[in-house]
Amino acid sequence: MQTKEQLRNAITQLDGKDYGAYQSLKGHYDFGSFQLIIEQIPKDPFAPPPTGIYRILFPLCDTQVTPNLLDSKNSRIACRDFYARQFFRHSQSISGQRRGTGFSGIITVDEPGQAILERNSILVDNKQLELRCFIGLPANKRIIRSALAITMLCDELPDIVRLALHREFNPRESLLAHIHCAEDAQFLRSRLAELGLLAFIADGAILPRHSSRSDRPLDDASVVAFQSPASLRLEVELPHGGEISGMGIPQGITLLAGGGFHGKSTLLQTIEMGVYDHIAGDGRERCVSIAGAVKIRAYSGRQVTGCDISPFIQNLPLQRDSQAFSSNNASGSTSQAASIVEALELGAHALLMDEDSCATNFMIRDSYMQQLVKKEDEPITSYIDKIAQLYHQNGVSTILALGGVGDYFAVADRVIQMIRYQPRDVSREARAIIRQQPSTRVMEDSERPIRPRARIPLAQGIDPMSEYGRLRVQATQVHSLKFGIHSVDLTDLEQLIELSQTRAIGHAILHARRYMDENTTVQQIIQRVMNDIESQGLDILNERISGHFAGFRPFELAQALNRLPSLQLKS
Ligand code: ADP
Ligand code: MG
Repeated sequence: MQTKEQLRNAITQLDGKDYGAYQSLKGHYDFGSFQLIIEQIPKDPFAPPPTGIYRILFPLCDTQVTPNLLDSKNSRIACRDFYARQFFRHSQSISGQRRGTGFSGIITVDEPGQAILERNSILVDNKQLELRCFIGLPANKRIIRSALAITMLCDELPDIVRLALHREFNPRESLLAHIHCAEDAQFLRSRLAELGLLAFIADGAILPRHSSRSDRPLDDASVVAFQSPASLRLEVELPHGGEISGMGIPQGITLLAGGGFHGKSTLLQTIEMGVYDHIAGDGRERCVSIAGAVKIRAYSGRQVTGCDISPFIQNLPLQRDSQAFSSNNASGSTSQAASIVEALELGAHALLMDEDSCATNFMIRDSYMQQLVKKEDEPITSYIDKIAQLYHQNGVSTILALGGVGDYFAVADRVIQMIRYQPRDVSREARAIIRQQPSTRVMEDSERPIRPRARIPLAQGIDPMSEYGRLRVQATQVHSLKFGIHSVDLTDLEQLIELSQTRAIGHAILHARRYMDENTTVQQIIQRVMNDIESQGLDILNERISGHFAGFRPFELAQALNRLPSLQLKS
């Protein structure tokens, strides 16, 4: 192991040389209060994270972490997430600016969003914290700037490390508050099933977001804090936060109705995001949903492979097979049907839908249309005719935000109306309307059982090699993954929230290939990958050390696999 002084001298020698000379700095250095391992240095100053990997080993006794905080997995995750945020914050203020060509001058760590997630940018055991950051060693064009490199590595980095990790600068209360916030959310989520609920939205919660580009809470004077209607209100005692009240959404069929712009989609999005724990101050930290809640939407153009959409769609034109439907350009309704069947295949317990992003002809065929177009000429069985069966036979609930189609009153267990951003339980009124004026619509094909067929993927469909013969599993945006020669369009995965999840999912698809033995189903394969991550951490997904993975659900992994254009199934 070399010293910090040796590193300083080594950098001095590189001044004015070509960027490639930085490679000689790789190694293990003792900085006194921590150790630095320069694991990987990019070959040019334009290479973005995650290419440069710098590992910092920091003694646990100099942090606020005590062994009891590492006892449970969830507390460990929250603890790691806390320090990743601290490092990000301080690195932004000290070395967040470009200084030179490309990424020159930048020190950063994978940016955490509003959710508390497992992250491999930071690991912890009972001796030390390991933090993995990105450092853009400075250059003008390709000419090394030693003086700045010395400042970054020998002054700025130790400052950031101290401010972010050392107990002197991080009060224990802040760390505990972060962990407790996650633990309260997990406690709430764990209560949902026994209370017969799908979701819980706390009174006082702030649901709207800053903008479509920012997931932070809306913070202007117009914000209306959430207040539960009396009929759906319940109280829960949290382990840390004391007694709170809020709205429980029971299992079954729930409509979120109301006029346009009154807050339906915002409430549904809160439920979608309730599968994650949120940081304090997010506004949704006490809004939780069951882990098996899956957002479903139509997305015309999506890739579908071998999906049995026959419960919803039969007799496609040109004898296309709806029991093993494949398309690289599915329509709105077939894409939505496929997404439902795939979610059921993975064991979803609740489907979340918003009319804003559903295919109208998938949701309903009204009575006039039933008279004009005969059932035998309509391949689609509308969701309204399957929604009750899905719940009663398959045990799968639906929460549906809609303002246009009142026919759904007839199949709903309850109707919540959003009025000026506040919920009202209008179930009784909706029932009375149906009683007084029964619909002339007839139910269609509501008996055909919905049994998702297990699909068996083949290893030869998973090829991560690019046209240049190099491994390419790459994500540059949350909803777009490059896998080998293919682009996987993840636009419709609305519960995928961080780029680091997408990166991890890309590598998880590759990891999944080892389980594709022509006997194992998609569901079993996904479960094995999740088990590997559970027992060995996110690092298991990549042979190379990386600091750019975040935790994800089995659903998002399966959804990404299902959208891989090269996916092949055993017939
Ligand atoms: P809908 O789906 O009923 O048409 P949205 O949920 O899209 O309505 O909300 C319409 C607008 O109102 C959005 O810009 C949203 O950010 C804002 N909004 C939603 N809930 C609230 C709230 N509680 N307080 C203030 N603004 C809100
Ligand atoms: Mg809406």
